[in-house]
Amino acid sequence: MTILRRPCPGTSINECPSGVSRYERGRWVVWLNPSETTSRQRFTLAHELKHIIDNGAAHTTVYKRLTPSEIESVCDHFATNLLMSRRAVYHLWGDGLRTPESLAMAFHISVNAMRRRMVALGLPTDLDEPSVLNYVDAFPDTPAPDTLPGHFLSEPPSTAFPGVAA
Ligand SMILES: [Zn+2]
Repeated sequence: MTILRRPCPGTSINECPSGVSRYERGRWVVWLNPSETTSRQRFTLAHELKHIIDNGAAHTTVYKRLTPSEIESVCDHFATNLLMSRRAVYHLWGDGLRTPESLAMAFHISVNAMRRRMVALGLPTDLDEPSVLNYVDAFPDTPAPDTLPGHFLSEPPSTAFPGVAA
């Protein structure tokens, strides 16, 4: 798969869609609108990935009964779950990231997209940031000791291997 951050063929940067994917010459090519934010481009890439995954059998069976708008919703749903899984959002929420801004930063997602995700997951979006002050890092920095523990120093260093004359 080739990912190109430029307008898809035949469009200018002012008129190109967020993303387009096509199978060309034996490979998938995804064009992403370079004028959009990196966060938006990530979401669009995940959306296009669903189009690619479902190309073929799904298109002729499952998608046959869906409107184009419904297919786009399916791809948005996939991208949302890929980039902001319920489990991951709840996990970071439990760790103390409780605002759309802090969660958006953690997931590299736009604040608006995270706000919509929080609402969908039943999480309040109007809490104050200070909850982050109670954030407990699962892997806190461990201060390095100034000296080695005493038992390392109580034995004289041995330079000889057992059974080998020095
Ligand atoms: Zn689409």
